[in-house]
Amino acid sequence: MNELKWTNWSHSFSSFPKQILSPSTEKEIIGIVKEAKKTKSKIKIVGSGHSCSQIAETKSGILISLEKYNSILSFNPKTLTLKVKAGISLKDICIFLKKNNAALANMGTIDPQSIAGAISTGTHGTGIKYGALDQQITSIELITSNGELIEVNKTKNEAFFNETILNLGALGIISKVTIQCVPFYNLEVNAKSISFDEMLHSFQLIQSNDYLRFWWVPHTDKVQLWKANKTQKPPTKQNKISAWIDGTLKGNIIHEIGLWLTSFKPNLIPKLNDFMHYLLFAKRNYEIGDFHRMFTLDINVKQSVMEYGIPIEKTKNVISEIRTLISKENFKVHMPIELRFAPKNDAILSMSYKRDTCYIGIISYKPFGKEIEHDIYFEKVHQIFKKYDGRPHWAKKHFYKTEELENLYPQWTNFKSHKNQMDPIKMFENDFLKTLFN
Ligand SMILES: Cc1cc2nc3c(=O)[nH]c(=O)nc-3n(C[C@H](O)[C@H](O)[C@H](O)COP(=O)(O)OP(=O)(O)OC[C@H]3O[C@@H](n4cnc5c(N)ncnc54)[C@H](O)[C@@H]3O)c2cc1C
Repeated sequence: MNELKWTNWSHSFSSFPKQILSPSTEKEIIGIVKEAKKTKSKIKIVGSGHSCSQIAETKSGILISLEKYNSILSFNPKTLTLKVKAGISLKDICIFLKKNNAALANMGTIDPQSIAGAISTGTHGTGIKYGALDQQITSIELITSNGELIEVNKTKNEAFFNETILNLGALGIISKVTIQCVPFYNLEVNAKSISFDEMLHSFQLIQSNDYLRFWWVPHTDKVQLWKANKTQKPPTKQNKISAWIDGTLKGNIIHEIGLWLTSFKPNLIPKLNDFMHYLLFAKRNYEIGDFHRMFTLDINVKQSVMEYGIPIEKTKNVISEIRTLISKENFKVHMPIELRFAPKNDAILSMSYKRDTCYIGIISYKPFGKEIEHDIYFEKVHQIFKKYDGRPHWAKKHFYKTEELENLYPQWTNFKSHKNQMDPIKMFENDFLKTLFN
């Protein structure tokens, strides 16, 4: 029996690849691809394994981890362009940028992801003015199933770039990435608790703040409104102990114990949510810090997540219908339900392709590894998303069938033929991609 076992971060699946390899040079990666072509082996690349969908799984192919292929290649302080090897984490990128008086224009809630994994799935933060990570890229170098290295450059060939940048790992191996960074900035964060109805009447704030999100605490009427704006003001003093108490002790340890206890008595979940709101969000929070610290959170509790991008003008309908559903079906659900925002994107498989978008994410935790039934809840919320043309986050759960996706992505058929041209021998295909495209 194959002894090699690989498990993703959220422990939503394990697989048994034929080999797990960790090359440290581009030449080695190309060598593996050429050899795989000869032996007709499949290849799957994995970044930090943070996708809870089976997008990075290979059952019998070679799993390539780029964890050792992870350094900075060059930085131009005038143009603020940064070139990196594809396995580098967002964290290492941010640390480097801060030292060099630069920043990412936007990012999500965590930073261990590899840059290539993040752009391949459309990883995003929030803010209607600043796009997802793939929108911050100007060029990538990709190793095809022939072992050839090609450049995919936004300026030189925009159409090809838009077909390739957000690629679900289906087109080849991203080897190098060039990021258009921005000048360093601090963020002034204001977070406060508002009511659900206030949220429904606050959507104009999306336009007037650089970055904004809502965290609704289901089973309560409470929402955390988080606003962050670029500022010239100096950082406020950071108290590391109270940051640990809020982020790690309350946000992870106490919450995980509560989630585990309520797994035996789900009727207590509303009380837990209310208590967590009191612990984490009831107090107004004002803080200034560097972009990296203010965007990211310490998240340790394993989880399954479903997140769809819906047309921004439908936000009120969708979140109101989710609230009605939870109460009508008497679901007991974990917090928070997250609303984030993004400008339209030209990448053809982006959730926000050609439309300003609200991303709505729902969550089911696995306290101390314990799986909690959530499929019916997720499936019913999916029906609401579907009614409003919601597009799924590729790294998270979804319930669409291929023919439905074809209607949601106007360039779906183009991507399919692009994939067949780029990888005619289906070297990079796995079950996830087969289900989507065949
Ligand atoms: C706690 C948590 C918080 C999260 N927060 C956010 C968030 O705020 N916003 C958001 O949008 N997402 C978020 N995510 C999702 C996460 O950003 C994505 O799952 C992302 O893809 C993870 O990057 P990774 O390096 O782990 O990629 P993996 O999961 O390892 O791989 C993802 C895909 O990228 C492909 N890939 C990886 N490297 C390469 C390469 N070099 N060449 C070609 N293909 C490659 C893989 O084959 C696979 O198809 C979160 C996930 C977790 C667990």
